[in-house]
Amino acid sequence: MEDNADNRLLVQAILEDQYRVTEYEDGQMALNGLRRSRPDLVLLDISLPGMDGVEVLQRIRTDEALRDLPVIALTAHAMAGDRDRFLDAGFDGYVTKPIVDDELLLAAIEERLRD
Ligand SMILES: [Mg+2]
Repeated sequence: MEDNADNRLLVQAILEDQYRVTEYEDGQMALNGLRRSRPDLVLLDISLPGMDGVEVLQRIRTDEALRDLPVIALTAHAMAGDRDRFLDAGFDGYVTKPIVDDELLLAAIEERLRD
């Protein structure tokens, strides 16, 4: 889930050979979509209009049908301590933007899908 169209295109391009990707532009659309069709994993932007990524995550974690979903934060927040802050918030992984290394994203996804 990502509100920036260029970033959505980039992620789609990196993942499309190996995964089926469903895109959502904001948190409410994403929550509705996840409930209709549960994916294997969620990539969640933190800076979103309206509900931010941390709030979307909290709603996923309190939803009976979705709470076990692996959720990876996709974020431009790359300050020292941010990684721990996001993992403490309940994210299963953390990938920083801009995505300059396709392999980092793919490895983070594969690691979570193996768990
Ligand atoms: Mg954003």
